[in-house]
Amino acid sequence: EEVNVIELINFAINRQNQQQKDQRITELEVVGEVPKIWLDPQHFIHILDNLISNAFKYSLGKRNPIISVSSEKNQLEIQIKDFGIGIPLTEQGKMYSSFFRAKNVGIIEGTGLGLVIVKNLVQLNNGHIYFVSSENQGTTFFLDFTIDQIY
Ligand code: ATP
Ligand code: MG
Repeated sequence: EEVNVIELINFAINRQNQQQKDQRITELEVVGEVPKIWLDPQHFIHILDNLISNAFKYSLGKRNPIISVSSEKNQLEIQIKDFGIGIPLTEQGKMYSSFFRAKNVGIIEGTGLGLVIVKNLVQLNNGHIYFVSSENQGTTFFLDFTIDQIY
C-alpha cells in the first residue's frame, strides 16, 4: 500500500525511544519533499525497529543516534547513523550472514539474525540496504527505495 514514510519512522522512533533508559533518537532530519511510497508498512516498521535497536545497542550510550530522510529524483533514502563501536573492516563482508556477530561486540548480547531478516524484508519491498562503518567511530545504515513504483 502507499504509506507515509515519515509517519512510520516517527512511530518506530517513539517506540524505540520508550524502550531506552538514557539514549534517545532526538533528531529526524527531513530533506526535501517526501512523497508517499509503495511498501508493506509492517515490513517497514520491522526494518526500522531492528536498525534503530542495533544503533542503540551498539552505541553504548556514547552519543544519540540520528535518523535522516531525503528524497532525490526517484529515490527515497533513509539513514540511521550511530556513533558507537562500529564494525571492524575485516568483518564487514559477513554482516548479513546468519548468526554473525563481530569480534568487537564484547558483552553486548544478540543472536546475529536481525540483519538477515532486515535484508530480506528490504529486498521484498524492492529496496536496497548498505552501510558504512568504521571501528570506534560508528555506523550508518542506508535504506534506498524507489519512489513511484508501479505494480
Ligand atoms: P539480533 O538477532 O538480536 O539482532 P545482533 O544484533 O547480534 O542480534 P544483527 O542485528 O543481525 O544481530 O547484527 C549482526 C552483527 O552485526 C552484530 O552482532 C554486530 O556485530 C554487527 N552490528 C550490527 N549493527 C551494528 C551497529 N549499528 N554497530 C556496530 N555493529 C553492528
Ligand atoms: Mg540486532
